[in-house]
Amino acid sequence: MNNQAQSLYSQIPSVDRLLNEPAMSALVVEYGQHLVVESLRYLQQQARQQITHSASLPEWCHDWASEVSRYLMIKQRAGLQPVFNLSGTVLHTNLGRALLAEEAIDAVASAMRNAVTLEYDLDGAGRGHRDNVISELLCELTGAQAACIVNNNAAAVLLMLAAVAPDKEVVVSRGELVEIGGAFRVPDVMRQAGCKLVEVGTTNRTHLRDYRDAANDNTGLLMKVHTSNYSIEGFTAAVDEKELVALGRELNLPVATDLGSGSLIDLQQYGLPAEPMPQNLIAAGVDLVTFSGDKLLGGPQAGIIVGAKHWIEKIQRHPLKRALRAGKITLAALEATLRLYQQPERLQSALPTLRLLSRDTSEMKRMAADMLSPLQQRYGEEFNVSAEPCLSQIGSGSLPVDRLPSYALTFSPKDGRGRTLEALAERWRGLPVPVIGRLQEGKLWLDLRCLQDERSLLEMLLA
Ligand SMILES: *Cc1c(COP(=O)(O)O)cnc(C)c1O
Repeated sequence: MNNQAQSLYSQIPSVDRLLNEPAMSALVVEYGQHLVVESLRYLQQQARQQITHSASLPEWCHDWASEVSRYLMIKQRAGLQPVFNLSGTVLHTNLGRALLAEEAIDAVASAMRNAVTLEYDLDGAGRGHRDNVISELLCELTGAQAACIVNNNAAAVLLMLAAVAPDKEVVVSRGELVEIGGAFRVPDVMRQAGCKLVEVGTTNRTHLRDYRDAANDNTGLLMKVHTSNYSIEGFTAAVDEKELVALGRELNLPVATDLGSGSLIDLQQYGLPAEPMPQNLIAAGVDLVTFSGDKLLGGPQAGIIVGAKHWIEKIQRHPLKRALRAGKITLAALEATLRLYQQPERLQSALPTLRLLSRDTSEMKRMAADMLSPLQQRYGEEFNVSAEPCLSQIGSGSLPVDRLPSYALTFSPKDGRGRTLEALAERWRGLPVPVIGRLQEGKLWLDLRCLQDERSLLEMLLA
């Protein structure tokens, strides 16, 4: 080792000496001795490496406490950080899908803080099972005879298949062999459930006779899957649930539908595109319907199975149910969300998902107009800042083709360089509350549909 390196090494203080600095003691109070010592060891290592590689000390060596503070702040930042979802996708799977109603949030807080009657029958009314209260609500809302709750809809489909058609053939149209993001593929789920997938029809056209021809002694289920994230257009034919139910009755086979999203209310009354409703499928005689808790329903991540009592009992008894069952936090949030549906007139204001989806374009336009001029002042040197109409999407594979008219603030670099735009997007992702926009057509779009705290956003973007 040469003399220069040696003299640099000797400028790295010992952990004990660093801990005696007043600024460091303050950090020990905030983060605890253990984390501070670990950080110091890590930073000492960094400093030594820099000496080895470039015969110099890092810039921050004149102020170790500030560097420790910076390092710990980043390290201790929560993994689940709140963000501004200005992506234009309301039910964004990567951003946690539905925002919950205040009623659900309160119910969760209470269930977390207290012992609850999760599987405890207070009054002999037969509520000693964790799904019972919610089952009653779901039956009331969908007309089904019984219900089962699990952790997500993928689990609902898996459990339903495993319990209803073990080692049996399940008939599905080729046009409905859906893949949902994150490795949920109908053929794979079938295999995992121990069922044999029998594909019938063609990608664009499937007829009732295709199902009939496929049925044999080893058939256990006729199944439909809602093509929730794509649409097949043109020369098409699909068999609707009513026809399939008639065939199922004739052949003595159950019929199931995986709806994916499933809305418990008619979205058209809010000016939104129609989405199939579980209650209509139950009314059509479908034996089992599965759907998600955190898509259009606007609740927590959960999977819901509603349907005929004898099938649900079979599902509840299956060993996989124990592995996939929902916990008290999920159940509390789901119950509170479903109770809102008992008062449909309150739903639009109380349920954030519905409120954001049905928000009037004029509201987004007004917010864009209010923020435009301060943002032009702040960013105008580098960017053309405008308020422009745009189209939001619902997301999470709900209503894949339909778009909702909205308004956005757009930023396009004056130097025309994509690099500048990427840098802006990255800078905003690094804000105390990261701002998630959408890069499209050489612009960064901030779709204001999901913006609820205008003031904080503006303050942060102007800082
Ligand atoms: C979203 C979806 C699923 C998966 O639901 P998760 O709640 O995300 O597990 C399954 N099937 C269909 C048709 C879907 O749209």
